[in-house]
Amino acid sequence: MSGKDPKEMRAATRVTNAGRRKEWTGPVVNAPVWRASTHLYETEADRKAAGKSNADGGFFYGRRGAPTQWSLAEALTQIEPGAHGTVLYPSGVAAIAGALLTVLRPGDRLLMSDNAYDPSRSMATGLLKRLGIEYDFFDPLDMPAFEAKFDAPVKAVWLESPGSLTMEVCDVPALTAIARQNGAVSLIDNTWASSLGFAALEHGCDIVMMSLSKHVGGHSDLMMGSASAGERWYRALRRTSQELGQVVSPDDAALAARGLRTMAIRLKQSSSSALRIAQWLAEQPQVAQVMCPMLPNDPRHELWARDFTGGCGLFSFVLNSSDPEASGALVDALNLFGIGYSWGGYESLALPIFPHDHRATMASPTKPAEEAGIRPAVRLSIGLEDTDDLIEDLAQALATMDTQ
Ligand SMILES: *Cc1c(COP(=O)(O)O)cnc(C)c1O
Repeated sequence: MSGKDPKEMRAATRVTNAGRRKEWTGPVVNAPVWRASTHLYETEADRKAAGKSNADGGFFYGRRGAPTQWSLAEALTQIEPGAHGTVLYPSGVAAIAGALLTVLRPGDRLLMSDNAYDPSRSMATGLLKRLGIEYDFFDPLDMPAFEAKFDAPVKAVWLESPGSLTMEVCDVPALTAIARQNGAVSLIDNTWASSLGFAALEHGCDIVMMSLSKHVGGHSDLMMGSASAGERWYRALRRTSQELGQVVSPDDAALAARGLRTMAIRLKQSSSSALRIAQWLAEQPQVAQVMCPMLPNDPRHELWARDFTGGCGLFSFVLNSSDPEASGALVDALNLFGIGYSWGGYESLALPIFPHDHRATMASPTKPAEEAGIRPAVRLSIGLEDTDDLIEDLAQALATMDTQ
């Protein structure tokens, strides 16, 4: 390997090189799996010195990780523009908790985007509320309403773009600028785009979190999360994570690192396949609306094209039906799409969704404010199958709707 900093390389080169320090890989390509609780010291003086430093990449005890985890964390830092360091968590939800518990104290107020991932919302209304932290949901597309929320002090703003299920891209630089002017910390769930598709810290966010169970893992066989930040917040994240005893297994870290090596090419393939499928779906009479910011006629496409350098295979669509069972029947009729949670794997998935159940301030495309009825919707995670096979499968499943 050359001595070039992976941060200066293009995406596909970065993900293949990041984190592969010679001292961690030895003579082999990948950092081996270091299974360890106890780290042994040569002398008592060495043990004392290790205990004092708490530096990254220093042997101490299993809870602080070993080269397998350090290599993955460093790789994620190197692919995240503006990051000083990355903390790994046993799941994406654990990363959300770790980041919010780092920033918030009893009595603080949190503003959360109304289209945030449902467990993020539950964290605000449950765990954080029990700790005496106030929350308020906001419509990320309504700037005046967002600004008005700062009439009372705000400690942190939680963003997600595109939002879960309904896929609205928000103006992250504008929202984080308002937060900053008011002394609030901006955090973002960047699982959809990943650091390859959206440089969150360079668009105003202080802390960026990802569920690594999705694109980084990429094979639907591991749970992990991460939070990355500049130096100040990285130190704080790391301390909270150590206090909470958060640790990821070396086996999972090695799997995540393996997934990372192909992430750029997987994302490229699944985004172009998803875009073609979204375009095809938009023309089908059984489909009322496609929610995908990569589509040129999506209402938020311009913002997406301005701020993002890539997309992924995840998007949703609303059915032209008032039968609440129609989305379930449609996914049952599909042969190439698994029915299940998560996404970002090599295999395609389909999931009936009910976003109107999880909104406080935003009208949902599945329950437009002016309409009484509820429209069924489906979220697709497009994998690495041949796009034409997926379209044929969707076509035969949609055709069954006509005869119901
Ligand atoms: C899946 C997901 C998470 C949570 O990640 P887990 O690894 O499943 O805990 C967080 N945010 C978004 C947007 C997700 O889709």
